[in-house]
Amino acid sequence: MVDAIAAAQVLSEIGYLLRQDEKERFRAKAFSAAAWTIALERPDVESLQAAGSLTSIEGVGEGIARVLTDVMQNGESRYLNRLREQMKQPPREDESDLDFDDFCGDIHSHTDWSDGRATMLQMARGAQALGYSYLGVTDHSPRITVVHGLDAERLVAQSREMAEVQKQVDGLTLLQGIEVDILEDGTLDLPDAVLEILDIVIASPHVKLRQEPAAMTERMLRAVSHPHVDVIGHPTGRRPGSREGANYDFVAVFKEAARRGVALEIDCDPARMDLSPEMARMACELGCTFAVDADAHAPAEFAYVPMGLWMARRAGIPRERILNFRPLDELTMALA
Ligand SMILES: [Zn+2]
Ligand SMILES: [Zn+2]
Repeated sequence: MVDAIAAAQVLSEIGYLLRQDEKERFRAKAFSAAAWTIALERPDVESLQAAGSLTSIEGVGEGIARVLTDVMQNGESRYLNRLREQMKQPPREDESDLDFDDFCGDIHSHTDWSDGRATMLQMARGAQALGYSYLGVTDHSPRITVVHGLDAERLVAQSREMAEVQKQVDGLTLLQGIEVDILEDGTLDLPDAVLEILDIVIASPHVKLRQEPAAMTERMLRAVSHPHVDVIGHPTGRRPGSREGANYDFVAVFKEAARRGVALEIDCDPARMDLSPEMARMACELGCTFAVDADAHAPAEFAYVPMGLWMARRAGIPRERILNFRPLDELTMALA
Protein backbone atom coordinates (compact mmCIF):
# COMPACT_ATOMS: atom_id res chain seq x y z
CA MET A 1 0.00 0.00 0.00
CA VAL A 2 1.58 3.25 -1.14
CA ASP A 3 0.01 6.39 0.23
CA ALA A 4 0.51 9.96 -0.90
CA ILE A 5 3.21 10.64 1.68
CA ALA A 6 5.27 7.61 0.70
CA ALA A 7 4.91 8.65 -2.95
CA ALA A 8 5.95 12.22 -2.14
CA GLN A 9 9.03 10.97 -0.33
CA VAL A 10 10.18 8.91 -3.30
CA LEU A 11 9.77 11.89 -5.65
CA SER A 12 11.48 14.19 -3.16
CA GLU A 13 14.51 11.92 -2.91
CA ILE A 14 14.72 11.66 -6.70
CA GLY A 15 14.59 15.45 -6.91
CA TYR A 16 17.33 15.69 -4.32
CA LEU A 17 19.64 13.27 -6.13
CA LEU A 18 19.02 14.87 -9.54
CA ARG A 19 19.83 18.28 -8.13
CA GLN A 20 23.39 17.16 -7.55
CA ASP A 21 23.86 17.10 -11.31
CA GLU A 22 23.80 20.59 -12.87
CA LYS A 23 22.36 19.24 -16.16
CA GLU A 24 19.37 17.77 -14.36
CA ARG A 25 18.40 20.98 -12.59
CA PHE A 26 15.03 21.34 -14.30
CA ARG A 27 14.10 17.70 -13.92
CA ALA A 28 15.06 17.95 -10.25
CA LYS A 29 12.68 20.87 -9.84
CA ALA A 30 9.88 18.99 -11.56
CA PHE A 31 10.24 16.04 -9.18
CA SER A 32 10.38 18.31 -6.11
CA ALA A 33 7.34 20.25 -7.30
CA ALA A 34 5.34 17.07 -7.87
CA ALA A 35 6.38 15.79 -4.44
CA TRP A 36 5.19 19.03 -2.90
CA THR A 37 1.78 18.89 -4.60
CA ILE A 38 1.28 15.30 -3.51
CA ALA A 39 2.37 15.96 0.09
CA LEU A 40 0.03 18.93 0.19
CA GLU A 41 -3.05 17.52 -1.50
CA ARG A 42 -2.74 13.87 -0.50
CA PRO A 43 -4.44 12.39 -3.56
CA ASP A 44 -5.39 8.70 -3.46
CA VAL A 45 -2.47 7.66 -5.64
CA GLU A 46 -3.44 3.98 -5.73
CA SER A 47 -6.89 4.68 -7.15
CA LEU A 48 -5.53 7.19 -9.61
CA GLN A 49 -2.95 4.67 -10.75
CA ALA A 50 -5.59 1.97 -11.16
CA ALA A 51 -7.65 4.39 -13.22
CA GLY A 52 -4.64 5.35 -15.32
CA SER A 53 -5.05 8.99 -14.32
CA LEU A 54 -1.96 9.85 -12.27
CA THR A 55 -1.25 12.67 -14.71
CA SER A 56 -4.36 14.43 -13.42
CA ILE A 57 -2.22 15.41 -10.42
CA GLU A 58 -0.76 18.84 -11.00
CA GLY A 59 2.89 18.65 -12.01
CA VAL A 60 2.80 14.91 -12.72
CA GLY A 61 3.65 14.21 -16.35
CA GLU A 62 4.15 10.87 -18.08
CA GLY A 63 7.68 10.36 -16.72
CA ILE A 64 6.77 10.98 -13.09
CA ALA A 65 3.60 8.90 -13.50
CA ARG A 66 5.77 5.98 -14.66
CA VAL A 67 7.96 6.32 -11.58
CA LEU A 68 4.89 6.33 -9.31
CA THR A 69 3.40 3.31 -11.11
CA ASP A 70 6.64 1.42 -10.61
CA VAL A 71 6.56 2.19 -6.87
CA MET A 72 2.99 0.98 -6.58
CA GLN A 73 3.50 -2.16 -8.64
CA ASN A 74 6.92 -3.20 -7.35
CA GLY A 75 7.13 -1.63 -3.91
CA GLU A 76 10.14 0.44 -4.91
CA SER A 77 11.35 2.76 -7.61
CA ARG A 78 13.95 1.24 -9.89
CA TYR A 79 14.74 4.72 -11.18
CA LEU A 80 15.46 5.88 -7.63
CA ASN A 81 17.60 2.81 -6.96
CA ARG A 82 19.61 3.50 -10.10
CA LEU A 83 20.14 7.13 -9.10
CA ARG A 84 21.23 6.08 -5.62
CA GLU A 85 23.84 3.80 -7.14
CA GLN A 86 24.99 6.47 -9.58
CA MET A 87 25.31 9.04 -6.81
CA LYS A 88 27.02 6.51 -4.56
CA GLN A 89 24.28 6.79 -1.97
CA PRO A 90 22.97 3.24 -1.93
CA PRO A 91 20.23 2.13 0.47
CA ARG A 92 21.41 0.90 3.84
CA GLU A 93 20.31 -1.83 6.13
CA ASP A 94 20.00 0.44 9.12
CA GLU A 95 17.61 3.08 7.85
CA SER A 96 15.07 4.01 10.50
CA ASP A 97 11.36 3.58 10.47
CA LEU A 98 9.62 6.93 10.76
CA ASP A 99 5.98 7.53 10.12
CA PHE A 100 4.63 11.02 9.47
CA ASP A 101 1.42 10.01 11.30
CA ASP A 102 3.41 10.17 14.55
CA PHE A 103 4.92 13.59 13.86
CA CYS A 104 3.72 15.99 16.57
CA GLY A 105 4.59 19.43 15.27
CA ASP A 106 6.98 21.82 13.62
CA ILE A 107 9.23 24.09 15.66
CA HIS A 108 10.71 26.35 12.96
CA SER A 109 8.36 28.64 11.04
CA HIS A 110 8.03 32.25 9.93
CA THR A 111 5.19 34.73 9.78
CA ASP A 112 4.74 38.20 8.36
CA TRP A 113 6.41 39.53 11.50
CA SER A 114 9.62 38.88 9.52
CA ASP A 115 9.88 37.35 6.04
CA GLY A 116 6.94 34.95 6.15
CA ARG A 117 4.17 35.46 3.64
CA ALA A 118 1.27 34.68 5.95
CA THR A 119 -0.09 35.93 9.25
CA MET A 120 0.44 34.03 12.47
CA LEU A 121 -3.22 32.99 12.42
CA GLN A 122 -2.91 31.60 8.89
CA MET A 123 0.22 29.68 9.85
CA ALA A 124 -1.43 28.36 13.00
CA ARG A 125 -4.46 27.20 11.04
CA GLY A 126 -2.15 25.45 8.57
CA ALA A 127 -0.45 23.56 11.38
CA GLN A 128 -3.81 22.76 12.93
CA ALA A 129 -5.08 21.35 9.63
CA LEU A 130 -2.15 18.91 9.65
CA GLY A 131 -3.19 17.76 13.11
CA TYR A 132 -0.05 19.14 14.75
CA SER A 133 -0.21 19.61 18.48
CA TYR A 134 2.32 22.43 18.51
CA LEU A 135 3.91 25.03 16.27
CA GLY A 136 7.06 27.00 16.98
CA VAL A 137 6.86 30.52 15.57
CA THR A 138 10.48 31.50 15.05
CA ASP A 139 10.86 34.70 13.10
CA HIS A 140 14.22 36.29 12.34
CA SER A 141 16.39 38.37 14.67
CA PRO A 142 17.24 42.08 14.01
CA ARG A 143 20.51 41.58 12.13
CA ILE A 144 18.57 40.36 9.13
CA THR A 145 17.35 43.88 8.42
CA VAL A 146 16.08 43.07 4.94
CA VAL A 147 13.43 40.86 6.49
CA HIS A 148 12.59 43.20 9.35
CA GLY A 149 13.97 40.96 12.10
CA LEU A 150 12.50 41.19 15.59
CA ASP A 151 14.09 43.00 18.51
CA ALA A 152 12.96 42.71 22.13
CA GLU A 153 10.21 45.28 21.73
CA ARG A 154 8.67 43.65 18.67
CA LEU A 155 8.93 40.24 20.33
CA VAL A 156 6.78 41.55 23.18
CA ALA A 157 4.25 42.87 20.67
CA GLN A 158 4.34 39.52 18.89
CA SER A 159 3.65 37.67 22.13
CA ARG A 160 0.46 39.72 22.55
CA GLU A 161 -0.69 38.70 19.09
CA MET A 162 0.21 35.10 19.89
CA ALA A 163 -2.04 35.14 22.94
CA GLU A 164 -4.93 36.27 20.71
CA VAL A 165 -4.21 33.71 17.99
CA GLN A 166 -3.84 30.97 20.59
CA LYS A 167 -7.49 31.45 21.59
CA GLN A 168 -8.55 30.68 18.02
CA VAL A 169 -6.73 27.40 17.44
CA ASP A 170 -8.07 24.55 19.51
CA GLY A 171 -5.72 21.66 20.04
CA LEU A 172 -2.64 23.50 18.81
CA THR A 173 -0.14 25.07 21.20
CA LEU A 174 1.85 27.98 19.87
CA LEU A 175 5.40 28.34 21.09
CA GLN A 176 7.16 31.65 20.74
CA GLY A 177 10.70 31.42 19.56
CA ILE A 178 13.28 33.15 17.44
CA GLU A 179 15.60 32.15 14.64
CA VAL A 180 18.55 34.10 15.94
CA ASP A 181 21.53 34.81 13.74
CA ILE A 182 24.89 33.38 14.64
CA LEU A 183 27.11 36.43 14.17
CA GLU A 184 30.58 36.18 12.68
CA ASP A 185 32.26 35.72 16.05
CA GLY A 186 29.75 33.14 17.24
CA THR A 187 27.79 35.47 19.51
CA LEU A 188 24.06 35.71 18.96
CA ASP A 189 22.04 38.55 17.55
CA LEU A 190 19.90 39.13 20.67
CA PRO A 191 20.79 39.64 24.33
CA ASP A 192 20.64 36.65 26.70
CA ALA A 193 17.85 38.24 28.71
CA VAL A 194 15.62 38.14 25.61
CA LEU A 195 16.60 34.62 24.55
CA GLU A 196 15.96 33.35 28.05
CA ILE A 197 12.25 34.12 28.04
CA LEU A 198 11.50 32.55 24.64
CA ASP A 199 10.19 28.98 24.33
CA ILE A 200 12.51 28.05 21.47
CA VAL A 201 15.84 29.45 20.36
CA ILE A 202 17.05 28.30 16.96
CA ALA A 203 20.51 29.66 16.18
CA SER A 204 21.29 29.70 12.47
CA PRO A 205 24.19 30.72 10.28
CA HIS A 206 22.94 32.99 7.47
CA VAL A 207 25.81 35.29 6.54
CA LYS A 208 29.55 34.93 6.01
CA LEU A 209 29.28 31.22 5.36
CA ARG A 210 32.56 31.27 3.51
CA GLN A 211 34.55 31.99 6.63
CA GLU A 212 37.76 30.08 6.81
CA PRO A 213 37.15 26.65 8.50
CA ALA A 214 39.03 27.31 11.76
CA ALA A 215 37.13 30.55 12.37
CA MET A 216 33.87 28.94 11.32
CA THR A 217 34.48 26.07 13.75
CA GLU A 218 35.05 28.54 16.59
CA ARG A 219 31.92 30.40 15.58
CA MET A 220 29.74 27.29 15.54
CA LEU A 221 31.23 25.92 18.77
CA ARG A 222 30.44 29.17 20.48
CA ALA A 223 26.83 29.07 19.29
CA VAL A 224 26.39 25.45 20.30
CA SER A 225 27.78 26.25 23.75
CA HIS A 226 25.37 29.10 24.36
CA PRO A 227 23.14 28.15 27.30
CA HIS A 228 19.88 29.30 25.67
CA VAL A 229 20.30 27.68 22.27
CA ASP A 230 17.98 24.72 21.67
CA VAL A 231 18.53 23.99 17.99
CA ILE A 232 21.11 24.81 15.32
CA GLY A 233 19.09 25.75 12.24
CA HIS A 234 20.15 24.49 8.78
CA PRO A 235 23.64 23.83 10.18
CA THR A 236 25.65 24.28 6.98
CA GLY A 237 23.60 26.92 5.15
CA ARG A 238 23.98 25.02 1.90
CA ARG A 239 21.71 25.34 -1.13
CA PRO A 240 21.94 22.06 -3.04
CA GLY A 241 22.77 22.68 -6.67
CA SER A 242 23.78 26.32 -6.16
CA ARG A 243 25.65 27.06 -2.95
CA GLU A 244 27.97 24.90 -0.98
CA GLY A 245 27.48 25.22 2.73
CA ALA A 246 29.92 26.39 5.35
CA ASN A 247 32.94 24.22 5.98
CA TYR A 248 33.98 23.59 9.56
CA ASP A 249 35.06 20.82 11.89
CA PHE A 250 31.72 19.05 11.83
CA VAL A 251 32.82 16.29 14.18
CA ALA A 252 33.92 18.75 16.86
CA VAL A 253 30.77 20.86 16.58
CA PHE A 254 28.36 17.92 16.40
CA LYS A 255 30.05 16.24 19.37
CA GLU A 256 29.65 19.39 21.41
CA ALA A 257 26.00 19.68 20.32
CA ALA A 258 25.43 16.09 21.46
CA ARG A 259 27.14 16.74 24.76
CA ARG A 260 25.05 19.83 25.47
CA GLY A 261 21.79 18.42 24.17
CA VAL A 262 21.50 21.02 21.42
CA ALA A 263 19.53 19.57 18.52
CA LEU A 264 20.65 19.83 14.90
CA GLU A 265 18.08 20.66 12.31
CA ILE A 266 17.14 18.78 9.21
CA ASP A 267 15.56 21.64 7.30
CA CYS A 268 13.21 19.96 4.81
CA ASP A 269 12.86 22.94 2.46
CA PRO A 270 13.92 21.39 -0.87
CA ALA A 271 16.09 24.47 -1.48
CA ARG A 272 18.05 23.60 1.69
CA MET A 273 17.81 19.93 2.74
CA ASP A 274 20.27 20.77 5.46
CA LEU A 275 21.63 18.68 7.17
CA SER A 276 21.92 16.29 4.27
CA PRO A 277 21.13 12.64 4.98
CA GLU A 278 24.86 11.83 4.94
CA MET A 279 25.78 14.59 7.39
CA ALA A 280 22.80 13.75 9.58
CA ARG A 281 23.95 10.13 9.70
CA MET A 282 27.34 11.24 10.92
CA ALA A 283 25.75 13.49 13.56
CA CYS A 284 23.49 10.65 14.64
CA GLU A 285 26.48 8.38 15.12
CA LEU A 286 28.02 11.11 17.29
CA GLY A 287 24.94 11.02 19.54
CA CYS A 288 23.07 14.14 18.39
CA THR A 289 19.37 14.83 18.64
CA PHE A 290 17.47 16.44 15.77
CA ALA A 291 14.66 18.76 14.83
CA VAL A 292 12.99 18.00 11.50
CA ASP A 293 11.35 21.17 10.26
CA ALA A 294 9.78 22.75 7.21
CA ASP A 295 11.11 26.27 7.92
CA ALA A 296 7.77 27.24 6.40
CA HIS A 297 7.21 30.81 5.23
CA ALA A 298 3.61 30.07 4.18
CA PRO A 299 1.14 27.38 5.28
CA ALA A 300 1.59 25.34 2.09
CA GLU A 301 5.27 24.90 2.92
CA PHE A 302 4.41 22.77 5.95
CA ALA A 303 4.24 19.99 3.34
CA TYR A 304 8.04 20.02 3.17
CA VAL A 305 8.20 17.78 6.24
CA PRO A 306 6.06 14.94 4.90
CA MET A 307 8.02 15.11 1.64
CA GLY A 308 11.42 15.38 3.35
CA LEU A 309 11.12 12.97 6.25
CA TRP A 310 12.94 10.37 4.14
CA MET A 311 16.17 12.25 4.95
CA ALA A 312 15.96 11.38 8.63
CA ARG A 313 15.05 7.82 7.73
CA ARG A 314 18.01 7.50 5.36
CA ALA A 315 20.22 8.92 8.10
CA GLY A 316 19.09 6.09 10.36
CA ILE A 317 17.86 8.45 13.08
CA PRO A 318 15.60 6.70 15.58
CA ARG A 319 12.34 8.41 16.52
CA GLU A 320 13.44 9.08 20.11
CA ARG A 321 16.22 11.34 18.82
CA ILE A 322 13.85 13.62 16.93
CA LEU A 323 12.23 16.40 18.97
CA ASN A 324 9.20 16.64 16.71
CA PHE A 325 8.10 13.11 17.55
CA ARG A 326 7.78 14.07 21.19
CA PRO A 327 4.46 15.12 22.67
CA LEU A 328 4.24 18.70 23.88
CA ASP A 329 5.12 18.05 27.53
CA GLU A 330 8.25 16.10 26.59
CA LEU A 331 9.20 18.69 24.01
CA THR A 332 8.94 21.57 26.47
CA MET A 333 11.05 19.61 28.91
CA ALA A 334 13.70 19.12 26.25
CA LEU A 335 13.62 22.83 25.42
CA ALA A 336 13.74 24.03 29.01
ZN1 LIG B 1 17.31 30.39 8.37
ZN1 LIG C 1 13.95 29.96 9.07
